[in-house]
Amino acid sequence: MSTDTFDVVIVGAGSVGMPTACFLAEQGIKPLVIDQFASPGQGSNKAAIGGIRATHSSFAKIQLCLDSLRVFSTWEASYGDNIEWAQGGYAFVAYREQEARALKNLLKIQQSAGLNIRWLERAEMLDLVPALNPDGLLGGTYSHEDGSASPMMSGHAFYRRALELGVRFRFQERVTGLIRRRGMVVGVRTDKGGYATETVINAGGAWARAVANMAGLDVPVVPDSHEAGITEPVAPFLSPMVVDIRPDEGSTNYYFYQHKPGGVVFCITPDPPIVGTDRRETSAYLPMIARRMVGLMPRLANIKVRRTWRGLYPMTPDGSPVIGRSKELEGYIHAVGMCGQGFMLGPGVGRLLTRMLTDRETDADAVTLKELTPYRAFAGTEALK
Ligand SMILES: Cc1cc2nc3c(=O)[nH]c(=O)nc-3n(C[C@H](O)[C@H](O)[C@H](O)COP(=O)(O)OP(=O)(O)OC[C@H]3O[C@@H](n4cnc5c(N)ncnc54)[C@H](O)[C@@H]3O)c2cc1C
Repeated sequence: MSTDTFDVVIVGAGSVGMPTACFLAEQGIKPLVIDQFASPGQGSNKAAIGGIRATHSSFAKIQLCLDSLRVFSTWEASYGDNIEWAQGGYAFVAYREQEARALKNLLKIQQSAGLNIRWLERAEMLDLVPALNPDGLLGGTYSHEDGSASPMMSGHAFYRRALELGVRFRFQERVTGLIRRRGMVVGVRTDKGGYATETVINAGGAWARAVANMAGLDVPVVPDSHEAGITEPVAPFLSPMVVDIRPDEGSTNYYFYQHKPGGVVFCITPDPPIVGTDRRETSAYLPMIARRMVGLMPRLANIKVRRTWRGLYPMTPDGSPVIGRSKELEGYIHAVGMCGQGFMLGPGVGRLLTRMLTDRETDADAVTLKELTPYRAFAGTEALK
């Protein structure tokens, strides 16, 4: 085994691993980041469509994403990288009483957790999104501080900043084992050698359960496949991310927005879930989502789709991440189970992990960590997962 020693080893150069490496290095903690793929963000990060919202139904996810929004919205001014940040907001639309009721019921917890969100009546929603089908529209919620950014450009921005701060990366290297001694982490083993460390952060995304198993632990993270697509670029006509939570045959919700360069980017949640690690796109996806999107926004019938792709959500049974230290193995930390929100959660999770490792946890962090503990019952379901 190599004698290289690191303060922290992060397994995974993805949506969580890269910003975490930056924020740790800013505090003088030098991590090593290991990824099995050839370059940063090649797991699920590059599959994300770029939505960044603090509009969730749980305190922890709202707090983490409010913090992420601070990072994304100030990144270009702070470091000069264009990450295609745009503050278009999120509009959850309602065409039936049951969705209107469900969305209105969430407003209380969302507002009390600090989210700037309100209900828009039908006319206000049509002012905001004039292209919406007006037939049957009741209104919806609007959180104007949410937004979007390019996952690939953001990933590279975090990666470059981490390199500048002295973070070391190893690509095309797979973590194959965690070395433990007397209940403590002392290193990691890889297919190319090994590294000594007293702290391992599992940020392994859809592959995180196998990493936990290497430590003799378990965590209920199961990969499932989701598809996305992008159209040709057109003149700006759509400001917020539009989310339709009505279930339909073969799918639950779907969401889309017009990104800064002009293309409409879209994604659907298949029902039942497609469990597994298959990342090959299918011919079933586009007809399914196109019908739903054109129904909601008829003018989309005239736009051409450029390409589709498929990636993995690292799902947990309750739709919330798992973040926290292991009680069984000192030095091991879970930062896994980001579900369909790992890109938007990444910077907030990275800052939380940094506070944990520098003994600067706040009272709000304690509430967040209690909610996301690996030792919870995984009973309920986050309503906007
Ligand atoms: C179609 C689609 C659309 C999405 N849209 C959005 C969106 O709009 N907004 C949003 O926030 N999220 C979105 N997501 C979800 C988001 O992509 C994921 O939640 C997020 O990327 C997970 O981040 P992560 O860091 O946990 O995993 P990843 O980004 O996948 O990183 C994990 C890394 O760990 C590495 N790894 C794992 N095991 C090992 C090992 N043993 N050795 C070495 N390396 C290892 C992997 O190679 C991988 O690179 C979308 C996902 C899909 C599929």
